[in-house]
Amino acid sequence: MDCPYCKKEMAQGAILNDHHIRWYPKEVTFIPLTPEEEGAVRLNDAGGWLDCARAESWYCADCRIVITPVPEIESSMDKWKKKWDSFTQRVGEESEKRQIAREEEKQEREKEKKRKKDPWEV
Ligand SMILES: [Zn+2]
Repeated sequence: MDCPYCKKEMAQGAILNDHHIRWYPKEVTFIPLTPEEEGAVRLNDAGGWLDCARAESWYCADCRIVITPVPEIESSMDKWKKKWDSFTQRVGEESEKRQIAREEEKQEREKEKKRKKDPWEV
């Protein structure tokens, strides 16, 4: 990656930590219990619990700047939500099918009633 300031090639490396590596908005002045809900952006995609957390980064010694791209992170909450959404969608589809089947049964019963009705009866 080239430095966006001096355009020289940056040194590739990583920020390492024994916990998650996060960026916080300026109004957050202490590490909250639910950092992501407080606007924190996690910079390590793996590790942070038992393994070392690693945020791939690029460093320019001339400009004294580090660039850390934000990885796509699927949290356990996201995974759980996906499962839940697909479950509720399946339940919704099943319920729709049952409703259609019930509607068809109802129409069938009404047809049956009309057939049984005396054609001369008004
Ligand atoms: Zn630079």
